[in-house]
Order: sequence, then structure tokens, then C-alpha cells
Amino acid sequence: MATPAAAATDLDVLWQPLQVGPVTVPNRIGFSAHSTNFPSDRGLVDDRYVAYLGARARGGCGLLVTSATAVHPTGYRMGEFRAFDDDIVEGWTALADVVHGAGSKLFTQLYHCGQQTTGTMFLDTMHAPVGASALPSPIFGRKSAAVDEREIAELVGAFAAAAVRARAAGLDGVELNAAHGYLIAEFLSPLTNRREDEYGGSTENRCRFALEVGQAIRAAVGHDLAMGIRFSFDEYVGASGVEPDEAERQLAAFRDSGLFDYAFVSGSNYSSLHQLLASRMSGNDRHMVPNARRAQALAPDALPVFVSSSVHGIEAAAQIVRDEDADLVMMVRAQIADPELVRKARDGRAGEIRRCVGFNQGCVARVFQFQMLACTVNPNAGREATLGATGAATDVKRVVVVGGGPAGLHAAELAAQRGHDVTLIEAGAELGGQLRQAAKLPGRDSWGDLVADLTASLGRLDVDVRLGTAATADSVAALAPDAVLVATGATFEQTGHSIMLPFRDALPGADLPHVMNPLAAIDAPSTCGERVVIFDDSGEAMPLALARLLGEAGKQVTLVTTQLTNGFKLAATMELPWIMPQVVAAGVELVDQSLLTHVEPGQVGIAGVWGGAPRLVPADTVILTLERRQQDALYHELRARGIAAQAIGDCRSPRDVDAVVYEAAAAASAL
Ligand code: SF4
Repeated sequence: MATPAAAATDLDVLWQPLQVGPVTVPNRIGFSAHSTNFPSDRGLVDDRYVAYLGARARGGCGLLVTSATAVHPTGYRMGEFRAFDDDIVEGWTALADVVHGAGSKLFTQLYHCGQQTTGTMFLDTMHAPVGASALPSPIFGRKSAAVDEREIAELVGAFAAAAVRARAAGLDGVELNAAHGYLIAEFLSPLTNRREDEYGGSTENRCRFALEVGQAIRAAVGHDLAMGIRFSFDEYVGASGVEPDEAERQLAAFRDSGLFDYAFVSGSNYSSLHQLLASRMSGNDRHMVPNARRAQALAPDALPVFVSSSVHGIEAAAQIVRDEDADLVMMVRAQIADPELVRKARDGRAGEIRRCVGFNQGCVARVFQFQMLACTVNPNAGREATLGATGAATDVKRVVVVGGGPAGLHAAELAAQRGHDVTLIEAGAELGGQLRQAAKLPGRDSWGDLVADLTASLGRLDVDVRLGTAATADSVAALAPDAVLVATGATFEQTGHSIMLPFRDALPGADLPHVMNPLAAIDAPSTCGERVVIFDDSGEAMPLALARLLGEAGKQVTLVTTQLTNGFKLAATMELPWIMPQVVAAGVELVDQSLLTHVEPGQVGIAGVWGGAPRLVPADTVILTLERRQQDALYHELRARGIAAQAIGDCRSPRDVDAVVYEAAAAASAL
């Protein structure tokens, strides 16, 4: 569990203003560019995005940088802003008005995605991906066309034209995205720049495109706007890409050009995004700070250094600035989770900050699946103008919430914040529901932060929490509630029914005594036998983390999934590259595209989903992580008695945490 946030007095270093070219940023916390999929269908700024950034500005964040905005149609992908469209000015202006009204500064990030696209996302503008060289994107797999000198000149002009639009909208600055494997970064990196002309080869040549873009922007807008460059100080692909020694040479070129007002130390390319977007389970903690420190040593005072990535908590940010490792710290996920992070810290209420749990489920994964960004701990993220605008209740009600898992806790919190008289009934001895088991798994302990934060919040709100109390229809009715929210959760199905064999109601042998519920296995790993087989349909983190837990405890573990790969959902959360080596190191045998044919004493049958004879594998314990079933008996009983009850969360339908907490908040906002 993370350390509680520090007292405000430890944080004073963060409240110093910072001069960035012509712009005075009021403090040292920023909200850097990140994808949201909030742009309208036309790639423009709409009310949702204005409300999203506006909430962070009002929350005290000093500098906000918009999501990457594409300067050219060939560099534009679904879900992004179109800086090449004059119509962007109107939305940017609205955004600037809101951010400035809160006393904060607004930059936009200008970019071209380069080879990181299919080129086929839009029906009417399908095109060949273009890049510094003709190479395939590590994620999209399409091979790009290398831009020629005429195209380079056109793209340089496109960056300058976008900066002119930013100035027209009243923005304070522009940031070049020269990081993460996008077009400018492709030129900078020896891995992706194989050119033999004046744009390839030496560091000087590879920096040429970035500097030409910078020069064109300065020629177009002068020094009216601040201009910074975000670049990968380490691409995390070894000597074939940019490593810190090469990044220092590039930074020297940026510095000596006199074009830039800040240097933003970032990292990764499309082969190593898991480093940039590191899950909490990576163990990464301020891992880009040593590179920022190297940049600080090269950069004069007039060139402030920004840093981001895996800065867990406001005290960690203060430490970075106090140690002069960077001048400004970008905190994205922390402020998605709590838009009031800066204000709370400044007001001496750092202990009230809702902490990001860091598993990328609501933010990174959803965005990579072309869904709008959400947040597992903050149901208002992206809904600031709707759910987040819910005010105090006009008709104060007596509200009973049954169940102390994530849905029940969120519902109780919002209902109490709105002024309702709330009683929360939980059958167990502690709050948290299945998050308590999740937090016991290796690398997943920050789930406990969410339970602790919600529990503390209910305490501040004087919610009547009754632990160890099994709710019945009679006991609920006796409280004479005006509204009942039933959040009694779900339990793991123990029939062995698999989505891969929908016509097989039960796994033969699933009722044998050595077949175990995964939650029981997490609570008491020592009760598992020496040879364990886990059977999974879900593709989620829990089966892998449980396999690791048992493997590290010396068990011989086989993890069988019906899916294409174990943990397939963790590709989008960027957790697969972190968890798989840990699971393999724990000695777990991974079996994919397979299922259990039957369970018998001491062994199971395993067969491929595409056919073939089963093989018998020894198993003293079998754990089923398949479907979850709603525990909704109380809900139906209450409804049958005419009591106004609403099922929320897993009790209604077992889902991801970000989905159930939204449902809980929506229900509480409607009371
Ligand atoms: S979805 Fe998860 S990782 Fe993303 S900001 Fe929210 S809590 Fe943090």
C-alpha cells in the first residue's frame, strides 16, 4: 500500500511559479498530453473535453497540454484533434478561456503520428502510412512509405500553420511531440531513421527535421508562444534506438538552436510503450527521473526540464522538484483519478486525494480499444459536465446501500456527498469486497489504496457503516429507507461452464472437493495442493497473478486458458510485458487455446479448443476463474416486497471496476 500523502508544508516547493519562455506557469504540476478519444467525429474540441481540462485547471493544475493534435491528414488518427483544420480554433479558444479563467496555462501538443497508423481509419482519406523510413509499425504492422523532401517541406509547413492556429485561439504555447515513435521521433532515432540523405545518419542529421519544424514555427509565430519539445531520452530498445547518451547529444542540439523554451524528458517508442504507460505492477517509480537529472545538467536555467511517468503521489513530485531533478512534473493518471489533486494538496488536504491505482484499465486500455477514456476510481472522469455536475439533493432521503465493494462504496459516497442520510450494510468484517482479495495478489496492492480512500471518505461524510451485518429484506425494511441500492456483488461460478463450450452446462468433475474458488485460494494459498491447475476464460490479471502467487509459494502451477493467450486483456493495459516474465519466472506452465475436458481425483484432462485428444495433467487442486454469477437474491426479495430497490454493480452484471463504479455513481446521482 502506498504511503499516505505528505503534509502541505512538505510541498511548498511545488507552489513556486515557473517561467517558460514568455509564459509564467503558476506552479510545478502539469497535465501532459494524453489520448482520450474525446474529440468529436470531426476531430474538434467539444464540451466534454473543455469540461475535462477545465476541471483539472480549476483543481489547481498549473499547466495543461492538450492531447496530441495532428498537423496533417496523413498524421491523423481516429479519436484525435485536427490541428490542420481551421475549425479547431473555435474549440481551442473555448478551452483557453476556461483554463485561463482558472488561472492556469494551456499549451497544445503538435504531432504527426508517422508510421504509427494503419492509414485506413477513415473511409474517405485512406492513405499509405508515412514515416522517416520505410518500416512497419510495431503495433499496426503496416509498412510506411518514407517521406521525400517535398513531403518533408509540406509537413514542416503544416506544423507552422498549426502553431498559427494555436496563437489565434489564445493558447499559451505549443509542444512538439518528438517522442514515443511518432514522426519527429522516427527521424531522431537510429532505429527508425535509415535515411541516407541529409536527414539521416549523424545526430545532427537526425535532428534536422525537428529543428526545421521548430524554425518554421518560430518564423510563423515568433516568440509570442512558448515552445517546448517532448522527446524520448531512452526508447528502451537498447543500443539500436535512442539511449541517454544519444539523447544528451540531441538535447544539446535543441538547446543550442535557441528555439525551445522547455525540454520534456519522456521515453519509449511503439516497441516499448509499456515503459511510458507503466502499470503499477511494473514496480516503476519515477523511472524517468534519472534521465531528467541528466537533462538538467545540460540545460541552462532558461530551458526548464519537465518530466513525467510513474510519479506516484504529490510528495514524489515535490521530491523531484526539491532535488532539482526537474522543474515541472507532469502527472496525468494522478489527475485523471483526482482532478483536485493540486488544490487538495495546497489546502493541506493531501490525505483526501483519491489515488490512482495504476492498472490502466479505465484510461490506457479503453483508449487503445478506441473507447473514450474513463477511470476506475473516478466515475466523473470524462463526465465532468454531466455526472460530475450533479449537485446537492433537493429532497434529502434515507438511503440504504447493501454491500461494501467498489459499487456500494462509491454509491454511498456520492449519496452522502449530495446530502442524503446514508447507511451502508456489509456482511463481511471489512469493506472492499473482492478488491480485498485483489490487493493480496503480487503487484496489485494498490487496490487496497482505493478501499482505504473510500473508507476514509465515508468516515469524513459520517456514513453509518455497519460491518458484519447480513442484510435481509426484513432488516432493510426495518430501516424504512426511501431508496435501497443493492451492491451485493458476484461470486465465481463453480460449475466449470466455459464460454468456449456454451452447450456444456458443467465441467465433468467440477463438483469434486479439490475444485476451489479462486478467492478462497487467494485468501489461503497454503490450502492448495502441490500441483495446481487454473482454468480461465477471462483473460484478466487475476488468474495470472494468482498463478504467480502460487508458483512463488513453490506450487507446480499450470494455467489453462481458452483464449488466444493467457491474460489477453492485459495487452491493452500494457501489463502483459510486465506480468508475463514474472509468471514465467515463478515456474508457471502457460497453456492457451485449450480447455479442461474433465476433472477427476488427482488429475484433469486438457485439450485444445480446436480439437485433438486430451492429455492428462496431475492436479491436487483445480481453480476455476470462469464466469461470475450475480448475487442478487436480496434485490429480488426486496422488489417482491414492493421496496424501491435498485441493483448496481456486479450484483446487476459482473463487469470491470470502471463500469460498476460509474453505474453506482449514476444511481446515487439520480436519488
Ligand atoms: S483508470 Fe486506473 S490507471 Fe487510469 S487514471 Fe484511473 S485509476 Fe489510474
